[in-house]
Amino acid sequence: MASPPAPGTPILRDQQAGPPDAAGGALAARLLRVIFGCYFAVATVVTAGQMITEYRSAHRRLEADIQAMERTFGPGLADALWGFNERVLRGILNGIAEMPVVVGVEVRDERGRLVERAVASHGGRRVSGLFDRPFARDFDLVYRDEVGRPHPVGRWTVRSNDGIAFDQVTDTLVVILINSVLKTLALWVIFWAVVRRMVGRPLAEISRFVRRLDADSLGARPLRLTGRGGHELHLLAEVFNGMAAKLRRAFDDNAALMRDLREANATLQARVEERTRDLARLARTDQLTGLDNRRALDERLAQAAPRAAGGPAFSLVLCDIDHFKGINDRYGHAVGDAVLVAFAGTLRGGIRPGDALGRWGGEEFMILCPGAGLDAARAFAEGMRRRVEAAEMPGIGVRTCSFGVAELHAGESVDGVLARADAALYAAKRNGRNRVEAAGLPLGRRSAA
Ligand code: GH3
Ligand code: MG
Ligand code: MG
Repeated sequence: MASPPAPGTPILRDQQAGPPDAAGGALAARLLRVIFGCYFAVATVVTAGQMITEYRSAHRRLEADIQAMERTFGPGLADALWGFNERVLRGILNGIAEMPVVVGVEVRDERGRLVERAVASHGGRRVSGLFDRPFARDFDLVYRDEVGRPHPVGRWTVRSNDGIAFDQVTDTLVVILINSVLKTLALWVIFWAVVRRMVGRPLAEISRFVRRLDADSLGARPLRLTGRGGHELHLLAEVFNGMAAKLRRAFDDNAALMRDLREANATLQARVEERTRDLARLARTDQLTGLDNRRALDERLAQAAPRAAGGPAFSLVLCDIDHFKGINDRYGHAVGDAVLVAFAGTLRGGIRPGDALGRWGGEEFMILCPGAGLDAARAFAEGMRRRVEAAEMPGIGVRTCSFGVAELHAGESVDGVLARADAALYAAKRNGRNRVEAAGLPLGRRSAA
């Protein structure tokens, strides 16, 4: 099972990357750049188109004005030229030259010789660069007599300049340009404010929230976007909160499961240890009497032997119920068992602190007497014999027991001392039972003695 992340562990591994608010800021800025760039391009094209259109219509007006001059002044000029009326001719030309669209005007006779010319008093006006394009329009001069017959008398030329058309619309063009720039600026400010408020700020809040998220703070405080609106980013924040809450619950469940598991494990471990102790105790306990069994006695003997020279004394007493088989035969095995239990109780009541009592097998018991030499052990066994003799066995009266005592000598093996205790017990049986016999010295020592 996966354990919950350690406290302080970031939820997103790469969340440290990038400057603060990078995600929100970058997206909002990019949106602004794209929107503004597109708007700027469109505004430039539209403004340029508008300006070109204005300029063209100004040019057309210029042309129309010059064409209109032909109808207005043509007949007068033809008359004046037909009649060689120089004064009238000059007057008309000076009048034409003063018109705003005219730079200069001249009249030539049929042979192309210059008759009269006039230059506009503003003729020296220079029009800048691109639009400074002088042009001229020629018109025929035809005199019509009383009966309407035409008589060509020459030509006249009106000089003008495209720059005049440009001058006429300069103010309009400036207004269009300022209008366009102001609109662009105003829209950019509006876009900037709206995009920042609706996209930039919520995104920055989301990314700030995600960056601060770790296993501790997960789900502790929900993400709340400032500002109104129920658009996708608010929905995203809600979905995000739901996910965080689910994750938090999963972490908590995981932690609770881990806790339960650890507790169950500890309980199980305690039970196993208790059971193991029980089993170990059972393995060393006699089922019928509850005394130590032969295995436990063997272990204690092995710990005591071989006895070190000059170390503390150690003796053992073997006791065997006299004529026990007869009890079984006469009263049955169950009574025999009850006698064994009662006998164990009698022996247990007689041992001293530090002694160890166990069932050696069948109706045979052993008492280990650390610190007791042969004489002390013999005296102890004698006391025990009397105690048994004095005890009334339930239902079968008084029973006796024979004792064999042996002292463990320095360097002697367990088998050696057991054999001598067994021999002493055998001697007690042979010598009439209900008595204590002590084993003599081991074989080697006997000859030395
Ligand atoms: P002695 O005085 O020579 O010791 O004679 P005894 O009858 O006590 O000895 P013997 O060895 O002839 O018989 C011992 C009997 O103990 C034989 C066996 O059936 C009986 N016995 C051994 N263990 C148990 C037991 O756990 N329960 C019962 N009821 N009897 C047992
Ligand atoms: Mg026996
Ligand atoms: Mg016996």
